[in-house]
Amino acid sequence: MGETREPDRSAERREMLEWHLEARGIRDRRVLEAMAHVPRELFVPAAAAAEAYADSPLAIGHGQTISQPYIVALTAEAARIGPGDRVLEVGTGSGYAAAVYAAMGAEVWSIEYVPELAQDARRALTAAGFASVGVVTGDGTLGLPERAPFDAILAAAAGPDIPGPWIEQLTDGGRIVMPLERHAGWQQLVRVTRLGDDVTMDDLGAVRFVPLRGAHGTG
Ligand code: SAH
Repeated sequence: MGETREPDRSAERREMLEWHLEARGIRDRRVLEAMAHVPRELFVPAAAAAEAYADSPLAIGHGQTISQPYIVALTAEAARIGPGDRVLEVGTGSGYAAAVYAAMGAEVWSIEYVPELAQDARRALTAAGFASVGVVTGDGTLGLPERAPFDAILAAAAGPDIPGPWIEQLTDGGRIVMPLERHAGWQQLVRVTRLGDDVTMDDLGAVRFVPLRGAHGTG
């Protein structure tokens, strides 16, 4: 009685899976199952809940955005996240991507530069059932030495180069997925894999992200 109930958005979530993810080639069952499960509407401002499953980034305040669903899926698939992996996310933003990685069974640490966004993300993660995600405020280009090493380090902000601390904080066989600045307005999503003292790099295509700030970012 008098209770306000959130609209059920599971049908929109299924359409997102079919049209934005599977139709574009996302195949990893763990990614698809995680994204079928995480309520994206809890990670956008309440006024934007009806657009939560749109195929676009959405503003979350402080000049930042929640990543487009396809980009989250592509990043998670490329990083080959598996149950029990220790994952560092740089750029918590809304907390949505962190929730997806946690839903894939990873132990997730996430760093956010803007304290207010970190606070909002903690609240959203708790409301969505992902209170186990550790959200830290700070400069993620330095990594998180006290929790290293990581099986995967994932960034949703574009920098000029792979930050050195990330390579140092990666396990043998660990993966970094991040966008690199190429030319003005043009970025390339890459996957770096550490094998012993060597690293290999794969190109995952052209993307648009906000800038990665901080010591090993754009400053
Ligand atoms: N994955 C997020 C999207 C994040 S947008 C989501 O699903 O909502 C990128 C975020 O990176 C922004 O919130 C921005 O404040 C943050 N950021 C930029 N540079 C950073 C840095 N050096 N350390 C931590 N966070 C950073």
